[in-house]
Amino acid sequence: MTANLFSRLFDDVKDLDRLAIETPDGGRISYGDLIERSGRTANHLVARGVKVGDRVAVQVEKSVEALVLYLATVRAGAVFLPLNTAYTLNEIDYFIGDAEPSLVVCDPAKVEGVTTLARRVGAEVETLDAAGRGSLSDGAAQQDAAFVTVARNGDDLAAILYTSGTTGRSKGAMLSHDNLVSNSRTLVDFWRFTDRDVLIHALPIYHTHGLFVASNVTLFARASMIFLSKFDPNQVIDLMARATVLMGVPTFYTRLLQNQRLSRDTTSHMRLFISGSAPLLADTHREWSARTGHAVLERYGMTETNMNTSNPYDGDRVPGAVGLPLPGVSVRVTDPESGTELARDAIGMIEVKGPNVFRGYWRMPEKTKSEFRGDGFFITGDLGKIDGKGYVHILGRGKDLVISGGFNVYPKEVESEIDAIAGVVESAVIGVPHADFGEGVTAVVVADKTKALSEDAVLQALDGRLAKFKMPKRVIFVDDLPRNTMGKVQKNVLRDTYATLYTKAT
Ligand code: AMP
Repeated sequence: MTANLFSRLFDDVKDLDRLAIETPDGGRISYGDLIERSGRTANHLVARGVKVGDRVAVQVEKSVEALVLYLATVRAGAVFLPLNTAYTLNEIDYFIGDAEPSLVVCDPAKVEGVTTLARRVGAEVETLDAAGRGSLSDGAAQQDAAFVTVARNGDDLAAILYTSGTTGRSKGAMLSHDNLVSNSRTLVDFWRFTDRDVLIHALPIYHTHGLFVASNVTLFARASMIFLSKFDPNQVIDLMARATVLMGVPTFYTRLLQNQRLSRDTTSHMRLFISGSAPLLADTHREWSARTGHAVLERYGMTETNMNTSNPYDGDRVPGAVGLPLPGVSVRVTDPESGTELARDAIGMIEVKGPNVFRGYWRMPEKTKSEFRGDGFFITGDLGKIDGKGYVHILGRGKDLVISGGFNVYPKEVESEIDAIAGVVESAVIGVPHADFGEGVTAVVVADKTKALSEDAVLQALDGRLAKFKMPKRVIFVDDLPRNTMGKVQKNVLRDTYATLYTKAT
């Protein structure tokens, strides 16, 4: 049997009329429809010259047709390459040059600029808009629905997803059919998905979370999803009355908590709330439990690895922890320099190994080599620890580690103490160049506007709770922390903003 993700997803669909996707405008797409539409689109891709192994680069708004394009690309044995809709033409230039796709699908509004870039690598261009219209849909409509899914090996590539790359060049993570299938199946079991589930799908589909975790898991479970073009708290609360699962980034949860309608009643039909892609504050976790009676299930993954750990379905969902290694996934914490495995509770580099871990970075063999240990473990770049109960805790990205006066300061440790101070909404701790200390621990804090909180008050509250070398040298108040579309705090932006904080003052 072929290992093509599409075959494994659809070959044994028995009930073709079963609902797969609904849209707020009344659209209802069955499993049979997905098979048929992906067949037409796959035929069109082939007619446009897409061959087995070719990359299909896609920068389009979220739509059912965009998801069909993903399925069709994989079905045709090509490699799906989604791009963040926020990327400018200048950025797209890099991705097209690096990935050399044979086809680029873009929004009609960008077609002129994209065509110029695509020509340089000899790629064709098709359009698809937010309503699913464009030359791609027009072309597909002319095609036959029958398409023989291209046979693929488990190790062949199904997708390349570029990492968000806050430092240096963005890298293309190569994901195989086996990577995606194994992780989806594991998550279906671990999170107890069944064909009775209805997922509220409000995530973008250019990222691993919305594309693979949300969509693949739903489809593998033969469940259905309500496909929303964007996250709107009111709409999501309305849908909870007939849905069962929400997958979100932490900002979904903080914004839902700000909505007065969120209650035990409005969430009573839901069975599971999942959070990931960025740290969920322990406070948010507790507040959510108190308001709704549901403990958010936090999990940890990354573009390169799919999902690695998850809090349990039954058992303790620990606030501030990302849970236990998923079945089949090995997680260890090592000394970042030597790679030696550390004991429980010791802080170090998180490394993972398993069928979920990617095949390497596209056209970067050296970079790939340096990110793997000899025994196959991938060095995630996340610092953390494994506690006595086996739960993994993330203390920040390695590159966000602050080294002050030669001592390591883990941002999360300082942030947790600051967040616990009355009147603090959230905080980000960064290292800023400092003449004496190398880096000065610097706290950027969002305070509750109703309470007047001062720098001195924060420092006083921390006094005695943190070792002197971990104490912030400065506390800066801001209205909001800069975040990317997945809700991650952009510490690189903060570091740039405050780069001269200490050098200027001294
Ligand atoms: P991405 O490749 O965009 O999915 O980003 C992956 C990174 O997001 C990881 O390496 C972590 O630093 C971070 N991340 C993902 N999930 C969590 C989580 N539950 N808690 C803390 N950080 C997370």
